[in-house]
Amino acid sequence: MHIVQVDIDNFKSFSRKTKIPFYEGFTVISGPNGSGKSNIIDSILFVLSLSTSRTLRAEKLTDFINTMSGKNTAEVTLTFSDETKIRRRIKRTANGYYSYYYLNEKTCSQTEILEYLAKRGIKPHGYNVVMQGDISRIMDMSDLERRRIIDEIAGVAEFDDKKEQALVE
Ligand code: ATP
Ligand code: MG
Repeated sequence: MHIVQVDIDNFKSFSRKTKIPFYEGFTVISGPNGSGKSNIIDSILFVLSLSTSRTLRAEKLTDFINTMSGKNTAEVTLTFSDETKIRRRIKRTANGYYSYYYLNEKTCSQTEILEYLAKRGIKPHGYNVVMQGDISRIMDMSDLERRRIIDEIAGVAEFDDKKEQALVE
């Protein structure tokens, strides 16, 4: 399963509706500094709810709303190769914001999205997304910490946790 298209509407620097295709294998996004390359990655993290973990490049969620258009919402839809569609929308209100998730056009909770993704091996603290600085951090880790990451990716860590929990009980 891979992302085939990202639809961005009023998210960060994308004031106009923008469709970005992704290809199986390798897709490179190139462009001048400040042209919005990292904002595309942010838009994907935003939908996958991965943006709240390590990688948020915004102080608060409402910073994701484009500042030029005057609109109060930002919306991103990811379409996967199996035709799954995941959409997230945020709406600025007088005293905060609302966040909405849609799985195949039906509203759902963030928990449902996270469970859906976890079944497919995509986890907020996983390494599905390798951000700038991650590689050097991994290089600087101790052998044991690095082993922990490999266990995590291989799916072994989950069983270690369960075993530890069982021993405590
Ligand atoms: P670099 O090559 O330097 O990494 P980049 O292509 O990754 O650049 P981004 O970080 O994606 O660039 O985009 C930065 C631009 O996005 C800045 O010009 C910033 O003003 C703009 N931007 C960020 N948030 C918003 C927002 N909410 N509304 C409008 N523009 C925004
Ligand atoms: Mg960048």
